[in-house]
Amino acid sequence: MTWNVKDFCPELLPNETVYSWVTRWIQAVPFPQLKESTRLVIGSSNKQRNAIFPSFLPILEAHSGKTIKSLIEGHTIIPYFKSFCEEKSYKSIIKDIYKGDSSKVHLKLPFNSGRIFANPDLQICPICSDNDIHQYGINYFHVIHQLPGVQVCIHHRVELLKIKRIPCALNRPPILKYGNKDTIKNSTETQLKLALLSTELLNNDDNLTGSISQYYTARFIEFKLTTDRGGIDQKLLYEVLRYYYQDHMKNKLFDTIFSSDNVQHDPRDLLCKGKTHFHPLKHLILIAFLFDNIKELVDYIAEIKSIKNKPLIIPYPPTMINIINALVTGFSLKKISQSSGMSACKLKQIAISNHITINQREKTIFRAEKKSIKSMLKRGKKTNDIAAKIPCSIDVVTKILDQSPKIQAQRNEYLFTRKRAAARLRLITTMRVMEKELLTRNNIYAQDTRTYRWLFKRDREWLEKMLPKRYARKKH
Ligand SMILES: [Zn+2]
Repeated sequence: MTWNVKDFCPELLPNETVYSWVTRWIQAVPFPQLKESTRLVIGSSNKQRNAIFPSFLPILEAHSGKTIKSLIEGHTIIPYFKSFCEEKSYKSIIKDIYKGDSSKVHLKLPFNSGRIFANPDLQICPICSDNDIHQYGINYFHVIHQLPGVQVCIHHRVELLKIKRIPCALNRPPILKYGNKDTIKNSTETQLKLALLSTELLNNDDNLTGSISQYYTARFIEFKLTTDRGGIDQKLLYEVLRYYYQDHMKNKLFDTIFSSDNVQHDPRDLLCKGKTHFHPLKHLILIAFLFDNIKELVDYIAEIKSIKNKPLIIPYPPTMINIINALVTGFSLKKISQSSGMSACKLKQIAISNHITINQREKTIFRAEKKSIKSMLKRGKKTNDIAAKIPCSIDVVTKILDQSPKIQAQRNEYLFTRKRAAARLRLITTMRVMEKELLTRNNIYAQDTRTYRWLFKRDREWLEKMLPKRYARKKH
């Protein structure tokens, strides 16, 4: 009696990962040795079965009759990476997979594929799992539950269960009975939103590479969350994002991204380094905060692009702000040129466009220091910090402040703008973590009364625009 490996090919179930399917197939082959069965099904026992970019799809196509295209599109997380890959690179990656060689794929990805690449564990939804057992007799790993950083099932709005990935073993989801529904944890709004956006990315055909960060920045400007110089308060943004994603922090990927000693993975980079490429998860972290879904972002980009003559306001990057401050302070062009690497001619242009007069004859150190103190005062720096930085006594700093009502006014205005930006950001954050149906003025007020009151008193017009519409009172 003879048999063929095809005879044991299990049915590929909806949204099942190739890994899950292959594992079942290998288990079904009647060979005592795992190595032999693996070699039969995927051509070699050395190939990494759980690779995100598997190298054995051609042999699966030959054995099962399923096309490589349908396997990639319906049963792997590969399409998740498409939107943030240059078209050429993505095509080349797909070509490699068609050839059964994924050894160079990681080099072709635009981002460092190292530490935040994949979820450390396999995941299942307890309810999907129950339903699968009911419908197909078995449970299996779904593609949408394995997306990087995703913690919940978008269909059932519950937290996914983690199944430890044992290297070299045939990892299968345990068959558990979740009769006791108390053990199931409901998802939070932010968890659900990130999962929805991640799933949306699987089917998104719009390419989002290029200067995407300018649209994030534009959105921040639209929310009026910029400082008076048009920059973004990076520290504040970091704190807000940490707060917004507090439900995700127990996830290792998020922990890596947000840990303070890991500057490399800081999501704030997205706003500074225009064209540097990042892992999709880092993009999604910002997109989920700024937009309701990927489509809204795509429409937003199209809208901005369509307004041809409307210049996009792009805030100065921090290096530029340093240059402007140095010019305002009165440092010589030569000195600024040395430290910034920018030509004197370019510096003059910057000075002119920012209405800064450069007096090249009068540049005594004292004058420069005084200007520097004034500039820091205007930017709301604490007097003792200024004194330490110059260095000089605190008295010198307070004296300069007392003598100049104009600087005092500018300082107050700066501090107000900063406080207002922080309050606005707090309100938006509060509103974004609230469930849509609960989003009423009263509830927002109850969630963060202090911020609400502050804005009501000092920034009423903006507040009115941001809040949900007031319900008309019923007349009795
Ligand atoms: Zn589910």
